[in-house]
Amino acid sequence: IEIVGAPIFNEREMLKGAVLLLYDITHLKRLELMRKDFVANVSHELKTPMASMTGFAETLLNGAKHDPESLDRYLTIIYDESSRMEGLVQDLLTLSKLEKEEFQITWETVDLNQVVSDIKPLISQSAEQKEITLTFDLDENLILQTDSEHMEQILINLLINAISYTPEQGKVDLILKNEDDNIHFKVKDTGIGIPEEAIPRIFERFYRVDKARSQNTGGTGLGLAIAKHIVEVHDGSITVESELEKGSVFDVYLPKEEDPALS
Ligand code: ADP
Repeated sequence: IEIVGAPIFNEREMLKGAVLLLYDITHLKRLELMRKDFVANVSHELKTPMASMTGFAETLLNGAKHDPESLDRYLTIIYDESSRMEGLVQDLLTLSKLEKEEFQITWETVDLNQVVSDIKPLISQSAEQKEITLTFDLDENLILQTDSEHMEQILINLLINAISYTPEQGKVDLILKNEDDNIHFKVKDTGIGIPEEAIPRIFERFYRVDKARSQNTGGTGLGLAIAKHIVEVHDGSITVESELEKGSVFDVYLPKEEDPALS
């Protein structure tokens, strides 16, 4: 709390009383802390791949470039790290766009069956690499007033997570239902699960259950924060149920409004 005080005098300049203003700055302090945390997180996330890129480039310049095997190996690392950085910067831009108050979706009529066929090759390829069985169960009439890019983003983020956090030969299912009031996405996996205490936090920016483990998945820690933002812009909801070593189920409900731009 911040306190500002001032005395009050009467006409004869005698002290009559005082005014005290008490400002509750808890909210501001929290925002300031979140901002500092965010900057620290971004800097850290960018510094790690950059240090590795500089290090390997230096090794190459110092002579390793003459050995074809090292050349190939180090260039691959530099390529992977720069791709990771590119992904992170892209996610940060998406998030900052979504967080702007004046952010507006370009509402259009979207056929979600089409969105799923568009992302299928990318998702199938990731699943194949881990011999994960991927199934799609889609209702026929999946039409929503929305923005197809954002729908792709939610589905890709949830499906790539499901694949990343599921051991080889597991199962990932995508179910899309046309319900009375909502379009309902369900992404189910037979993966490592999420500890109960982490569940309320996984939608926060940069939160990862296990930093060391998540590092290997190449994610940015922003995927679920982005998905949640998109869902909120649609007045929808996103929830998760999970059991350790058994798997997780993410449910997204997007209301089928008549004309969201006018409501
Ligand atoms: P990341 O890029 O690390 O995957 P996300 O925001 O997408 O970031 O997810 C945040 C964290 O939630 C992940 O680091 C992981 O610990 C956990 N998580 C997300 N999806 C799953 C899942 N399907 N199974 C287990 N853990 C998950």
